[in-house]
Amino acid sequence: MNFTRFPRRMYLQGETPIQAMPRLSKVLGNEVNLFIKRDDLLPGCAGGNKTRKLEFCIADALEKGADSLITCGAIQSNHCRLTLAWSKIEQLDCHLILEERIEGSYDEDASGNNFLFKLLGAASSQVVKGGTDMAAVMESKAEDLRSQGKKPYIIPGGASNAIGALGYAACAAEIMNQINTMQLPIDHIVLPSGSAGTHAGMVSGMTGLNVDIPISGINVSRDRETQEALVYKLAQETVKKLNIKPELKQKAILCFDEYVGAGYSIPTNGMIEAVQLFARNEAILLDPVYSGKAASGLIDLVQKNYFTKGSNILFLHTGGSPALYAYQDFFREEM
Ligand SMILES: *Cc1c(COP(=O)(O)O)cnc(C)c1O
Repeated sequence: MNFTRFPRRMYLQGETPIQAMPRLSKVLGNEVNLFIKRDDLLPGCAGGNKTRKLEFCIADALEKGADSLITCGAIQSNHCRLTLAWSKIEQLDCHLILEERIEGSYDEDASGNNFLFKLLGAASSQVVKGGTDMAAVMESKAEDLRSQGKKPYIIPGGASNAIGALGYAACAAEIMNQINTMQLPIDHIVLPSGSAGTHAGMVSGMTGLNVDIPISGINVSRDRETQEALVYKLAQETVKKLNIKPELKQKAILCFDEYVGAGYSIPTNGMIEAVQLFARNEAILLDPVYSGKAASGLIDLVQKNYFTKGSNILFLHTGGSPALYAYQDFFREEM
């Protein structure tokens, strides 16, 4: 795979660590050996997976002469926080459209990413009702800005288009370099599957490298069939963009929807338990919406003996810990 064909800002400063989680593995009965890829430690304000995608999306914006970014997300969106953070570094205006997916859940004074939006200072932010056509609202914002003589560039939710997914195809290459250097045979990769750029990028990258390590996505909102179709479509576009020769196999895309609970961003007991287990055994902070639910899936799959005994499992930690501070109340009674 040749990433030098694409405009790219260099935000990463090297590889993120791959670490063993021996204490957590032991607590779970030593059935498998757990490892973690620390994308929560990526640069950008408070870390997380969107930085890899934004390297390519913001580079594309700059190449096209943009002076303003427009993006969207949920009211505690990590993607909006990171887009806003990198916009500061690049000295671009950043406009946020925030979706209140659960009626009545928006609190102007909420902590977590909501607080960080204000601290970082968006050029504008607008909260819209759940179910709003976000692409249409972003387009009308762009129209608005163009009429003021600005040059806006729209980054889709989660930066999950084929440009953003390049970041996770590149991450697949990074992981293979690391595990080859460490001589660490990974048997399975587990990651959260949301707007799908992370999952699709990883599958595309592994396909391009001719590596067949199974990848399991843990859904955070959609049912299995819908999510697998979404990931597959984006992976097809990404593979095409990268001119990857090995065949993208539809059955390489595997999603689990058992850990979503009542819906996107609504806490589950499994998420709370997972956040506590990672904190108390490995001193690693997960988040309530993505990595915590993905980890609850990982833990359940380990406990159900889904993985071969003794195998090495790599969990991709996509970040998100600032959102924890907006969810304190869900943890208090458990402590
Ligand atoms: C956005 C996000 C995800 C999901 O990644 P997608 O590429 O949208 O599927 C996972 N974890 C965190 C912390 C995120 O912010």
